[in-house]
Amino acid sequence: MAKKQGHNHCSFCGRSDAEVRLLISGIDGFICDECAEQAHNIVQEAFNANENAQTAVGSGKGKYGKLDWKTLPKPADIKAYLDQYVIGQDDAKRYLSVAVYNHYKRLCQEKNDGVEIEKSNVIMVGPTGTGKTLMARTIANMLKVPFTIVDATVFTEAGYVGEDVESILSRLLQVADFDLEATQRGIVFIDEIDKIARKSDNPSITRDVSGEGVQQGMLKLLEGSIVNVPPKGGRKHPDQDYVHVDTRNILFICGGAFDGIERKIAQRLNTHVVGYNSVQNVARIDRKDLMKYIVPQDLKSFGLIPEIIGRLPVLTYLNQLDREALRAILTEPKNSIIRQQQKLFAMDGIELTFAEDALEYMVDKAVEYKLGARGLRSIVEAIMMTPQFELPSMTKKKFEVTREYAQQQLEKSNLAVAENGF
Ligand code: ADP
Repeated sequence: MAKKQGHNHCSFCGRSDAEVRLLISGIDGFICDECAEQAHNIVQEAFNANENAQTAVGSGKGKYGKLDWKTLPKPADIKAYLDQYVIGQDDAKRYLSVAVYNHYKRLCQEKNDGVEIEKSNVIMVGPTGTGKTLMARTIANMLKVPFTIVDATVFTEAGYVGEDVESILSRLLQVADFDLEATQRGIVFIDEIDKIARKSDNPSITRDVSGEGVQQGMLKLLEGSIVNVPPKGGRKHPDQDYVHVDTRNILFICGGAFDGIERKIAQRLNTHVVGYNSVQNVARIDRKDLMKYIVPQDLKSFGLIPEIIGRLPVLTYLNQLDREALRAILTEPKNSIIRQQQKLFAMDGIELTFAEDALEYMVDKAVEYKLGARGLRSIVEAIMMTPQFELPSMTKKKFEVTREYAQQQLEKSNLAVAENGF
């Protein structure tokens, strides 16, 4: 019932119908369009705040449920699960399995016997595309805890354009549907941690994202403290309601390529292997695979501050993937690229097979293009583009990708053109 007449006034702001665009009448009064809109906003804000408050206390009703010590997988079970999805990287899998197991033991520990198990945040060092993120994601899937990936390079010191370190927790909170309890035992994967190394100590860095300041900011997350988190993310704003997230039980897994760290390792090995037994030690060092000798001190030489290194007590490494590993990645993981393709075609009633030499060809190309595991996917996609387009509308029920076919398809794709520099 809208009226626009006579001498009625809005019961909220007091303006007359001549001063407003619309005056709505109630049983005993009126409300103008502007006041109605304001009232709507107030109601909306009140509902939102209430919703956040209810979910933020961790009702346990969320999708992550409660943690149960009895059903937690043992380190060997965790590794066996990882083996289904991640090829090779045995050392890293073991370290990670134990760290995750200890972390959840810690969450279930008796608190009154004076022995407190400390947190075991992890740092994984290894070339890009070797499975760091995949490993962290697979573990989070297995344990059914909230998991988020963040890139360390987007963080800045307060006052600069970019994201605040706290936004890491906003994302975790959002992933956990604002279930605070689940958030506080989640896993955060911080990628490219090497890119916030101090510039002066790191010759390979091209872009300094305020290095040490960001590391300092990250410290408070890693060490376990109550952090005021803007639930909707973004920059802090004085009017926003914060959720207080306790990071004591959040597992942080950091990953980074640390390009050039082998040089630091070599330098250290050369200077340290002196004195008694030194000749034998030098002889025993495997110069082709220096990464396996990595120790926290090398991270310091690379430019991570000692406080950060101290908060990442589990240090492990990943190997560069060799030809054999790439071949295995194509078909062996539970959701391997080839299996995914076969599933796509199966949905159209087509049985898709690959000749062994076609698979070998794809691996050769991945090695040649120096694209590693990430490149395998682009290569398979390029080869399968035409059949994915044509086969669903044909009557064929079987399709085999031969080496010749793979080569022919790849050669006419953009990937090969880019590689040949045309
Ligand atoms: P990063 O080490 O840079 O975090 P990712 O884990 O993101 O690398 O790997 C990129 C992709 O390459 C993965 O999604 C996966 O398909 C594949 N991949 C990399 N390493 C492995 C591996 N060890 N086993 C199986 N797949 C792998």
